[in-house]
Amino acid sequence: MLREAPFQCPCCDYYTLAARGRHAVCPVCFWEDDGIDLDDLDGISSANHIPLRKARANFARMGAADEAARSLVAPREQLRGLRRETRAPG
Ligand SMILES: [Zn+2]
Repeated sequence: MLREAPFQCPCCDYYTLAARGRHAVCPVCFWEDDGIDLDDLDGISSANHIPLRKARANFARMGAADEAARSLVAPREQLRGLRRETRAPG
């Protein structure tokens, strides 16, 4: 089944991406979407230089995919109303 945009960011689970695998940077967590998803949690993302599992843990802990993005992410209160569905990592 063809899914429609917006797509869920593989890191923060917010629906922020107009397409998948196009190297868009998620405005919520600053993960660069190189197409990696939950079925490849431990491969090193070439765009983000860390595995998705690590980025998801970072987001849970500090609201950003990595330490460098921490100062760039939107304040949590700006995320209210933005669609998100938490997915359990495999
Ligand atoms: Zn994200």
